[in-house]
Amino acid sequence: MVDMSKRITDIGPPNYEQFLHPVIKKNYGQWKYHESLGPGLLCHTSESGDKIYSVRCASPRLLAIQSIRFFADLADKYCDGYLRFTSRNNVEFLTDKQDNIAPLKDELQKAGYPVGGTNNAISNIVHTQGWVHCHSAATDASGIVKCVMDALCDRFTSENLPAKLRISLACCLNMCGAVHCSDIAILGVHRKPPKVNQEQVPKVCEVPTLIASCPTGAIRPGTEGRVVDVVEEQCMYCGNCYTVCPAMPLNDPENDGISIWVGGKVSNARCAPKFSKLAIPFIPNEPPRWPKVVEAVVNIVEVYAKNAKKFERMGEWIERIGWPRFFELTGIEFTRYHIDDFKFAGTTYARSAQLRY
Ligand code: SF4
Ligand code: SF4
Repeated sequence: MVDMSKRITDIGPPNYEQFLHPVIKKNYGQWKYHESLGPGLLCHTSESGDKIYSVRCASPRLLAIQSIRFFADLADKYCDGYLRFTSRNNVEFLTDKQDNIAPLKDELQKAGYPVGGTNNAISNIVHTQGWVHCHSAATDASGIVKCVMDALCDRFTSENLPAKLRISLACCLNMCGAVHCSDIAILGVHRKPPKVNQEQVPKVCEVPTLIASCPTGAIRPGTEGRVVDVVEEQCMYCGNCYTVCPAMPLNDPENDGISIWVGGKVSNARCAPKFSKLAIPFIPNEPPRWPKVVEAVVNIVEVYAKNAKKFERMGEWIERIGWPRFFELTGIEFTRYHIDDFKFAGTTYARSAQLRY
């Protein structure tokens, strides 16, 4: 049999097996049960009786080299060099020595990295690139997440919510974050069509590719001397055209902002996975601390914490009490934007070559 861990290739990441903790490698697929030893501390026990302990801390996701070196030094000191980053950017230190847990936790907390995020707590917030890196961002990512987590940190370090609560942020609806399936999703939204730089378009873009890039067919060959036209009523402000053509910017400091979505989940425990649904259609960008976004998210978390039954996820709670009651309890205004507009969809999706079946 081919030993995949020894394969030599320059395609893709190296085989993960070589990075597994020896206890995990030895007991792969033979785990009997796991238990919680406290917020951020898990113990997995295998059929053979071997145990592996995880210590989970929050990371700011965009990490300085000093932070990575700090994590690596701690892993060398307490975990024989083994750690992993979860998909929500928590850092998990893995050790088979229970005595190492307390000093490791201590060092992390002294350095300002909260330990928690397991079981009925908020896990680290997954987020996208924001103004730091991405061209199509309608809002920042790490900045808002920092502000929200500052306000909710004790919900990370204590397991006092009805169930696990996953929050995510994507800075545009391309949604590199998991906003479509998180308990609370913070989603950057554009609200204006792209501004076409007619002079630049033919110099920096391929016009047929640009026209084909629009999922709603809103970009047409131009008339009256223009290179392309955008049918504004058909534009859904997705930013796809800007991705293929930098002469179609749609960033707008006045009209870009944030929407809040709730009730999504990936898990199929108790009921099928759910998509997030709209709760707040628009909150303006207010850097550097985004007070209205923080207030809105904290409000939803607190109302959920007070009213949901044990082990009820956000979406399950809302469906049990009904959406009208959710809006009533949270005090969120119900607007026309909460209603699916089939008439409008008729003027957009139905005309798209890409979305017609
Ligand atoms: S969500 Fe949008 S703006 Fe944010 S990183 Fe992804 S493509 Fe860029
Ligand atoms: S690609 Fe998106 S933003 Fe660009 S015109 Fe089409 S719908 Fe509007």
